[in-house]
Amino acid sequence: MAEKRWIAETLFDDLGFRMSYQVDKVLYEMQTEHQHLVLFEHPFFGKMLMLDGATQITKRDEFIYQEMMSHVPLFAHGQAREVLIIGGGDCGIAEEVLKHKSVKRLTQVEIDAAVIEFSKEHFPEFTKPVFADKRFESVIEDGMKYVARTERRFDAIIVDSTDPQGPGKVLFSQKFYAACKRCMNKGAVLVTQNGVPMFQPNELASSVAKFRRLFADGACYVAAIPTYIGGHMAMGWASDDRRLRQTPVKALAARYRKAGAFSTRYWTPEVHAAAFALPRFIADVVAKARPRR
Ligand code: SAM
Repeated sequence: MAEKRWIAETLFDDLGFRMSYQVDKVLYEMQTEHQHLVLFEHPFFGKMLMLDGATQITKRDEFIYQEMMSHVPLFAHGQAREVLIIGGGDCGIAEEVLKHKSVKRLTQVEIDAAVIEFSKEHFPEFTKPVFADKRFESVIEDGMKYVARTERRFDAIIVDSTDPQGPGKVLFSQKFYAACKRCMNKGAVLVTQNGVPMFQPNELASSVAKFRRLFADGACYVAAIPTYIGGHMAMGWASDDRRLRQTPVKALAARYRKAGAFSTRYWTPEVHAAAFALPRFIADVVAKARPRR
């Protein structure tokens, strides 16, 4: 019997830590113009996508991240019509955003066409409904360039990026956040994939400090995603409307009913509100995130 192949997540090599996954079958592996991409079948997690050695999505637990990156900003805002996703190649978040009938147009700006092309083949459960929805527009471009040039204005920007390495690095810069602010409507909200504070506290502190230089409210919320190894995952939060982050459960529940109370497997009005209650060690990282003068 041939030795099983194992693929390691190398994102935390600097911490002397790797997580390895047994490979039942490699479905797709290539060096795209931007990054190394491997999609494989895992006996427990199902289809798993890795980009440059970092886990992006697994069939088993994708719903947690996709729901928390979409329903938290959209139900906090309450009437988002224009939404922008930066990254998001697998279209999992796009599928969740389009469940909100208040959304009139969803623009997704993904740098790597290869991620979209193979997601059409391997994640049709996301890509089919998304590309069939007339509200959806896919742009292949560096998100930094797009937010710097677009004339469009958005009520919510969701940065579903890779980690701050390779093409994703620029999406954690002050320049990028300032360009996002430029194309946000009054009362809009920006949320970001901001890593695992246990292993990447500086990444979170740096983003929150930059948010606080640009917005009235810079913070984060958390969710537990099994394959984003290291405990809580942080999602960055930035808005000029401080009330959005405090939206009460009652208001969230009413908006959810009005939106048709579509099925979710992680997000609930109560989980939404609780996600902003940070464990002390994460609250301390955020509290210290003061913009350098
Ligand atoms: N859920 C994943 C996570 O938390 O790491 C992210 C999912 S999605 C696959 C990340 C996407 O960001 C990838 O498709 C990648 O190509 C895209 N991306 C990276 N840098 C980008 C940039 N500068 N502009 C637009 N998209 C970018």
